[in-house]
Amino acid sequence: MNENTKTRRRICILGSTGSIGTQTLDVIERNPELYEAHTLTGASNAELLIEQARKFCPDTVVIADDTKYELVRDALADLPIKVYAGADALEQVVVSEDVDVVVAAIVGFAGLRPAIAALQKRKPVALANKETLVVAGSIMTQLAAKYGSPLIPIDSEHSAILQSLAGAPLQSIEKILLTASGGPFRTLPKEQLAEATVEQALKHPNWSMGAKITIDSATMMNKGFEMIEARWLFGVKPEDIEVVVHPESIVHSAVQFCDGAVIAQLGLPDMRLPIQYALSFPHRLPTPGARLDLFKLGTLHFERPDIEKFPCLQLAYEAAERGGNIPCAMNAANEVANLLFRQGKIKFSHIAEIISREMQDTCFIPTPSIDDIMQTDREVRERASSLAI
Ligand code: NAD
Ligand code: MG
Repeated sequence: MNENTKTRRRICILGSTGSIGTQTLDVIERNPELYEAHTLTGASNAELLIEQARKFCPDTVVIADDTKYELVRDALADLPIKVYAGADALEQVVVSEDVDVVVAAIVGFAGLRPAIAALQKRKPVALANKETLVVAGSIMTQLAAKYGSPLIPIDSEHSAILQSLAGAPLQSIEKILLTASGGPFRTLPKEQLAEATVEQALKHPNWSMGAKITIDSATMMNKGFEMIEARWLFGVKPEDIEVVVHPESIVHSAVQFCDGAVIAQLGLPDMRLPIQYALSFPHRLPTPGARLDLFKLGTLHFERPDIEKFPCLQLAYEAAERGGNIPCAMNAANEVANLLFRQGKIKFSHIAEIISREMQDTCFIPTPSIDDIMQTDREVRERASSLAI
């Protein structure tokens, strides 16, 4: 019997109503003897949060939008579930003594403060919310080290890197090969990209994800974020992380070692595997369902990213090199531009233009505190939201 089978781990899912959140609940449902949904939280989708709470009967639920508090409370009045509302409640519930692990699956900057609160309380954090490492990677990794709180990636590429590393020392890593599907516009001519529609951008070829990350994949900002995420999680330099476009999304990433060996993790594109691995790490759990069939696949393809066509990728390397609060400025500008694009207010090509301009206009802080990060985020959002291109 391994550690995991002795007691059920009580899980707090920040963002249970999203794509990662609902798939985390699938993993819990498949392994009821190992995991228990202790806390569920959502931004404003009260209906789904109520449905999840009635099904999983957690200890606590939080609806971040406090105008929906009564709705959720009344719908769960017949069950012994604590109901809270508001952004501050997220920080309070993660630190509960009864929570064994926190799944950070909120999208964007909004997930930062609860993730920090969890690390400070020595909670293991299974991290999907990559934006937190983009904006505050140095602070988050320092806190994880100081408090001995495990920070385990859910992102499929980083899970693949973790699995490929298998505990190898940092000095033995020569390079990380970060794979990218290339998104829906990989083969679209550059001239047509400026006019790409929201509908086209939301059609990811291999993954079904939340709207924001799907647009980030179309601009390849997502891969830029993942480069920064990998840099902090694995302690490698940005220049030692190479993006490899791999349209089939079967090789989820690889590590090239100093002796020339390349170790990769392969599998069908299904986020439930990296989610489950983050919860069971370092153990593996049996999973039902389809298996990778190399004979059926026959061929896999790899190509270099086109950084002229996808300037966001280049901007991320620039932000990583400048460091300080610049990645935070990049993230804030991207969150605004991503939303403006989804709302049909700007063109696809304006996303990179807004990010680039905000990175230039941000007053550089080399070693930002959490307050500096909050302030940079606020200022960039205000400026970027008022932009009319
Ligand atoms: P999503 O939009 O489907 O879900 C986001 C969740 O966060 C929802 O539960 C929502 O209610 C909650 N939320 C949003 N804003 C909030 C706020 N201000 N306060 C509190 N809660 C809030 O997003 P997703 O696709 O599940 O992605 C979540 C995170 O995981 C992102 O950082 C994304 O980059 C990362 N990620 C997602 C996938 C994927 O397959 N979906 C893969 C890798 C990484
Ligand atoms: Mg990913």
